[in-house]
Amino acid sequence: MEFDTIAAISTPMGEGAIAIVRLSGDEAVAIADRVFHAPSRKKLSTQPSHTIHYGHLKEPESGEVVEEVMLSMMKGPKTFTREDVVEINCHGGIVSVNRVLQLVLKNGARLAEPGEFTKRAFLNGRIDLSQAEAVMDLIRAKTDRAMNVALGQMDGKLSRLISELRQALLETLAQVEVNIDYPEYDDVEEMTIPLMLEKSTWVMKEIEKLLQTSSQGKILREGLSTVILGRPNVGKSSLLNSLVQENKAIVTDVAGTTRDIIEEYVNVRGVPLRLVDTAGIRETEDIVERIGVERSRQVLKEADLILLVVNYGDELTEEDERLFETIQNMDYIVVVNKTDLSQQIDLARVQALAGNRKVVTTSLLKEEGVTELEEAIAALFFEGSLEAGDMTYVSNARHIALLHQAHSTIKDAIEAAHAGVPVDMIQIDVTRTWELLGEIIGDTVQESLINQLFSQFCLGK
Ligand code: GDP
Ligand code: ZN
Repeated sequence: MEFDTIAAISTPMGEGAIAIVRLSGDEAVAIADRVFHAPSRKKLSTQPSHTIHYGHLKEPESGEVVEEVMLSMMKGPKTFTREDVVEINCHGGIVSVNRVLQLVLKNGARLAEPGEFTKRAFLNGRIDLSQAEAVMDLIRAKTDRAMNVALGQMDGKLSRLISELRQALLETLAQVEVNIDYPEYDDVEEMTIPLMLEKSTWVMKEIEKLLQTSSQGKILREGLSTVILGRPNVGKSSLLNSLVQENKAIVTDVAGTTRDIIEEYVNVRGVPLRLVDTAGIRETEDIVERIGVERSRQVLKEADLILLVVNYGDELTEEDERLFETIQNMDYIVVVNKTDLSQQIDLARVQALAGNRKVVTTSLLKEEGVTELEEAIAALFFEGSLEAGDMTYVSNARHIALLHQAHSTIKDAIEAAHAGVPVDMIQIDVTRTWELLGEIIGDTVQESLINQLFSQFCLGK
C-alpha cells in the first residue's frame, strides 16, 4: 500500500524537555534530508536503518538554523507503521517543536490526523493495539469472575517478567549508545560486547523457559473453530484453500490434516481461525448422512463460526435448506459461490433464510469475493457478536507468536556478537527484540525507544 507522508508532534511520556516530531511514509527520509544537516554532511538516505543522528535543522532557502536535534531514522517494515519513520527529538519547548513541525510540513509532509499513525499500522497489516484490546475485551466479556482473577494474575506475572527482560535489553542499548557517542573510549567498546552477550543470553534463556510452558498442544485448540459446511461440490475445499493461501498460517509445524477431517490454522485480519472442512469427513451424496457422522456432529457443535457455502449456479436444494435449519441458532456467514456461472439461485430466498446474517458472493475460480468474506469475518469478531468457546488461548497465541519472534531476533543478536559483527548492527536485533517483547504487554514502539533512552539514561547532550 502507498500513502503520503504524514507528520505530527508525538508528545513523549515522562518528564524531560524533549518532544518528538514523527514522520511516516515513503518520503519520510527524503523530507528529513531536505532540512537535516549532520556534522559529517552525510545524507540520512545513505545511512543504515534504525540509527540515531545528531545535527541541525535548517531552512532550505535561508540556511537559518531552526533547531539542534537528535534524529532517529527507521526504514520500514520494522517500524510501528511498517513505513519509513523518522523521529526528530527536539530539546526545546513547545515553540521550537512547532517550528520543527512547520518546517517538515513546508518540505513535503502532511499534518497527520488524530490516530493516523495507528491507522496506518493497521492498514499496513500490523496487528495494532486496538485489535489486541478488542481481543482482550472479548476475553473479559466471555470468562467468569474466577477466570478473570486467574487471568489477571497470569498476565501480571507475565508482564512483570517481560518488563524485566526489556529493562535488561534497554541497558544494553544504552551501553551501545555510549559506545557510538564516545568511540574514542576503547574500554567502553570492550565492555559493550560482553555486556550485550551476558544480558542477551539471559533474555534468550528466559524466553525459552516461557515458550516451554506453552505447549504445542494448546495451539491446537486455539483460534475460532470455523466450520466450512455445504453440499458436495459447492466449493468448500476451494474456500479453505483460498483462505489459507491468502492468509499466513498461524502454525506451520502442526499437522492439520487427519484421516477424516481437514484443519488449517489461519490469521484473518488478526482473527485466529481454525478452519475445518467437513468435506473431508465423507463425500457422500447424502448430506444428512454426513452430518450424522459422529465426528462431524461434534465439530458442528463446537463451532464458533460456520461458513455455509451454497452454489450460485444451482437452485437451492432441500439439502441446502436443511443445512440452514441445522445451524439456525449459530453464528454463520453464507458464501454464495460460483458467481461466474449463470445464476440459478434465488438470492432473496438465501437472504431470507440467513436473516440478519451476512451473505457474501464469491467466485473462488476467479478469486473474487474472498476479501469481502474476510472483512465479514473480521467485522463479526471485532464488533463483538462472535465469541469463542475458549478465548483464553487467543491471547496466548499472540504471545507465543511474539515470543517466538523475540527468541529468533535475540538469537540473531547473540550469534552476530559472537561472529564479531559491528555493535551498531547487533543493536538492530536487540532493539527489535525489545519492541517485540513490548508488543506482548501492549507497550509498542509508539513510545519511542530513543525517548526512553533519553529519559532513563540522560544520554542527550
Ligand atoms: P467441495 O466438494 O464443496 O469441497 O467443492 P470443491 O472445492 O472440491 O469444488 C468442487 C468443484 O467446483 C471443483 O471442480 C472446483 O474447481 C469447482 N469450483 C470451486 N469454486 C468454483 C467457482 O467459483 N466457480 C466455478 N465455476 N467452479 C468452482
Ligand atoms: Zn472438497
